[in-house]
Amino acid sequence: HGEAGHCAQVNGPGLWTVPGLEIEAEAHKHSRGRLCVLSGPAGATGAARIVAQAGLAGGAGFVTLLCPPSALMEASTASLAVVTKALSRDGSFAEALEEAKADCAVMGPGAGLGETLRERVLSALGREMALVLDADALTVFKDDPETLFEALHARCVLTPHAGEFDRIFKDLRENCENRIEAVHEAAARSGAVVVLKGPDTVIGSPDGEVRVNVHASARLATAGTGDALAGLAGALLAQGASAFDAASAAVWIHGDAGRRMGAGETAAELLTRLPGALEALRRQRAR
Ligand code: AMP
Ligand code: MG
Repeated sequence: HGEAGHCAQVNGPGLWTVPGLEIEAEAHKHSRGRLCVLSGPAGATGAARIVAQAGLAGGAGFVTLLCPPSALMEASTASLAVVTKALSRDGSFAEALEEAKADCAVMGPGAGLGETLRERVLSALGREMALVLDADALTVFKDDPETLFEALHARCVLTPHAGEFDRIFKDLRENCENRIEAVHEAAARSGAVVVLKGPDTVIGSPDGEVRVNVHASARLATAGTGDALAGLAGALLAQGASAFDAASAAVWIHGDAGRRMGAGETAAELLTRLPGALEALRRQRAR
């Protein structure tokens, strides 16, 4: 597409690098990327638990779920390997990220709309660290997206589905000829990598590159799969991938895991398909 400058299929070989497929002998859990995930309150921790589990599968060496005190017990059922920490009421979210020495944070899934979430997103953005913003972390800026756009930077990945995209980018999709053009413009406008999810997923970088992923499956059209994508992207960012590569690779691997889902399987089983997808990719790359 002319206006999008450069547009490539995500499944072109060698287009992106995936940290963590091969692990160096001297690696330890803290050298493999520390990922923090913001959890919603009690009764709404499921989405963040999916993010955290996908983060571990995606190769982040250490994953911390940060949650409201009320949700501590519930959040701690995410995985035996996920560490759960209660957020203090007065401490800023940035301080919690500092304490956890986070290389990347994922915010939004199940987080719950309100002023607290807005403040937490802006405080994390102030740290200039790698961030994945999804779901509520985007929707919470629907009345003043400019505030979000001003704070975003090149280490940020936004992962909206069509509805979330329209809430922050308004009539951009309507005014563009196609989704590629819309994502190209959204990335330029926001200054972040934008991932417009759907049957085909379009990924745009703020410097004008656009990639399209068609390697997926309609089995992914079930609750919680988007949360797994956010965790996967966060894990790759935490391990040092660029925002554009982390997003592109996460979308492809997520799609590949989706193609490994059988009838009746849900987001819970999608998580169990991630290692197979990653291992197949590792073998293919090692050849
Ligand atoms: P969310 O809407 O946040 O739950 O995310 C859903 C995830 O599943 C996204 O990664 C979508 O790209 C993917 N997905 C949903 N429906 C389909 C479909 N029909 N074909 C392929 N992927 C899909
Ligand atoms: Mg979602």
